[in-house]
Amino acid sequence: MSGITRQLVYLSDAKFGLKMNDIQKILTSSRRNNLNDEVTGLLIYSDGVFIQILEGVQKTVETVFNRILDDNRHENVDILLDSNVDSRAFANWEMAFIESTPEELGARAGVNGALDRSEVLRLLSQDQSRVTTFLHNFASALGD
Ligand code: FAD
Repeated sequence: MSGITRQLVYLSDAKFGLKMNDIQKILTSSRRNNLNDEVTGLLIYSDGVFIQILEGVQKTVETVFNRILDDNRHENVDILLDSNVDSRAFANWEMAFIESTPEELGARAGVNGALDRSEVLRLLSQDQSRVTTFLHNFASALGD
């Protein structure tokens, strides 16, 4: 899995009433599909908010992301980062999962205090380096 990688990060709201069991189903099909598609990444769930990092070949990420956009288990998708990188941050993960808290989101983004959806969006969309720090902090928390 070498060469230019597209890294796409978005934020969305889980559909009201979505349960951990539903998220497990999402993870099962994501991991199966992503293994085939050579897509890697991380799904974070915090208090009704999803943050997902998708990494892979340009076109493949496009296809997977289009499927995700059509999925009615979440809504209000906002892209935080869409760029090409030399190496993957989550190369060993078909789709890692972290159930997080607003406080942990703040800590990983390098600020004091809890972050809700609108604060994550405001903070991370105004400074791309913050998104990178955020990703690397989560990647180190996962280990290899
Ligand atoms: P299957 O996985 O075979 O579908 C299995 C079952 O899941 C269906 O029978 C149905 O019960 C349920 N299901 C599928 N789609 C829906 C739906 N739209 N609404 C309600 N129930 C449904 N897919 C990836 O491939 N890679 C990812 O990284 C990824 N990340 C996701 C992150 C989030 C936050 C969400 C909400 C979805 C994500 N998905 C991801 C799932 C994606 O949206 C598609 O549902 C999936 O890719 C379809 O795969 P499949 O055709 O193999 O269907």
